[in-house]
Amino acid sequence: MGSAKSKKSDSDSKNNKCLSDEVINLDQGDPTAFQEYWMKMKDRCTVVIPGWDHMSYFSDTTDVCWFLEPELAKAIKALHGAVGNAATEEHYIVVGTGSSQLCQAALFALSSLSDANPVSIVAAVPYYSTYVDEGSYLRSELYKWEGDARTFDKKGPYIELVTSPNNPDGTMREPVVKRSDHGGKVIHDFAYYWPHYTPITRRQDHDLMLFTFSKITGHAGSRIGWALVKDIEVAKKMVQYLTINSIGVSKESQTRATTILNELTKTCRTQSESFFEYGYEKMKSRWERLREVVESGDAFTLPNHSQAFCNFFGKTISTSPAFAWLGCKEERDLGSLLKGKKVLTRGGDRFGSDKKYVRVSMLSRDDDFDVFLHRLATIKNLKCIEP
Ligand code: PMP
Repeated sequence: MGSAKSKKSDSDSKNNKCLSDEVINLDQGDPTAFQEYWMKMKDRCTVVIPGWDHMSYFSDTTDVCWFLEPELAKAIKALHGAVGNAATEEHYIVVGTGSSQLCQAALFALSSLSDANPVSIVAAVPYYSTYVDEGSYLRSELYKWEGDARTFDKKGPYIELVTSPNNPDGTMREPVVKRSDHGGKVIHDFAYYWPHYTPITRRQDHDLMLFTFSKITGHAGSRIGWALVKDIEVAKKMVQYLTINSIGVSKESQTRATTILNELTKTCRTQSESFFEYGYEKMKSRWERLREVVESGDAFTLPNHSQAFCNFFGKTISTSPAFAWLGCKEERDLGSLLKGKKVLTRGGDRFGSDKKYVRVSMLSRDDDFDVFLHRLATIKNLKCIEP
């Protein structure tokens, strides 16, 4: 009876939210969608840390990344091994306070090891908007943000940031700058190369790959990311950056990430418990519902995502990206239009693209996602909306 009552009040609150004019923020990719799963896991991933533990700055002074907890390193290798999405052999692991910090460490490392500076930084449009800040905020003499990789034709060394699947549009990507002088380095950002977002078609094995705990399990608050780096000199330079920047990474966060990643690996082949099964079903159903709403009207567009055989699931699946790259069929400022409906998104111009597109987070809590769909469904045609 108690649960019937609470179910009723849940749906009441959802209805109220739909009808209310509360602002729904789908601008950031805050990955709260998966909290329900972790609540169901109850105490399985509860971590208790005694007051005397983790007091030193150091973890393993024999490791290139001396602040990396050896147990986390093991957990990372085991998870990549179980999922089959990346090679860890012949790579050094560098842990960071989120992969945001690691991206900056990588820019520092690659550009300070370059013969000439500033090194150009490029990414193909539409690119992850934060790269613009990461490449320009410090006004470094080591590197310079140069924008779209497709139109880049400057001489000299460059770093291309390749996000695959891409944020914001979910496409699978390869480097686009082709040079015969081999003056380019690539940072592969694999934040979303996990089976709940995209088919795992191969084991990635590049010189510098970035991963983030935030987007695998949704634990963005722990601020844990890792880089897999082939060249020891690059790894050392990244560690130098992290040492100057934050003297390492929280041991408490590393411990929690270790527990959760180990749980993921342990349960990944048990259908009823696997986080990836859960995440895949959740993302798939959100995408089906969004497509249904978009196709029921004549106002919006969505990219067609490819299907491929996923080595992890052992079947052909579609991509269900963490963001929707929503467009409108007319030349309108879609971000402003949706803001008028009290839905906050990130405008396409922030990604080096057009304002007729917006990036919408697909990782919000259920009730916010429901309200978003409800409001989107009320716009059948852009002609009826004032400019
Ligand atoms: N790379 C990409 C492509 C992302 O979307 C994000 C998060 N929005 C990050 C890196 C950074 O994630 P974090 O710093 O939380 O690890």
